[in-house]
Amino acid sequence: MAKAENQTTLTPQQAWDALQEGNQRWQAMSPAHPRQSSQRREELREGQAPNVCVLACSDSRAPIETIFDQGLGDVFVIRTAGETVDNAVLASLEFAVEGLGVPLLVVLGHQYCGAVAATVGALDEGPIPERFQRELVQQVAPSVIESRRKGNTTTDDFEREHALQTLKSVIHRIPVIQELIDAGSLGVVGARYRIDDGVVEKLAALGVN
Ligand SMILES: [Zn+2]
Repeated sequence: MAKAENQTTLTPQQAWDALQEGNQRWQAMSPAHPRQSSQRREELREGQAPNVCVLACSDSRAPIETIFDQGLGDVFVIRTAGETVDNAVLASLEFAVEGLGVPLLVVLGHQYCGAVAATVGALDEGPIPERFQRELVQQVAPSVIESRRKGNTTTDDFEREHALQTLKSVIHRIPVIQELIDAGSLGVVGARYRIDDGVVEKLAALGVN
């Protein structure tokens, strides 16, 4: 496979460590706000070489660069309500791993996710939404069902399961992801952000520790 022209030199583990360190600064409320200068902005005119692609929920309480204390050009971000996936999301993910050569892919759910809560409500009490929001319930429902099958009862667990199921689904649907993991050039992490204390919980990982 052709390598991206200007990809980052970080290994998957280095990319994950950098994110974790940034999240620790955020938890401690001592962010460094790295790489947010006008000089950095100028440098990036030549192109981007992000260290990570993050697929996450659109929830305004979980802005990706902020909670990982990252800067301009660091993170290729894809956000949809409930981190749901459609063809545009798959295309963006494929571009990130193939075109940009990111060494790390993170699928991030979060605490108090409205899409998960709405799905639980629709399943238990109804009605199933009509119009476009029906799609959210259709995508999140299997995660809730699977989590309950395992004996879980809390929305915290449903949110965790949904991030994991979403990660599993994108690995399945974009075969190059597994090839890159096997080649040692990509790591993937399923995680959940806690609004209460700012912590990103690692739920599962391949290709990184
Ligand atoms: Zn959400």
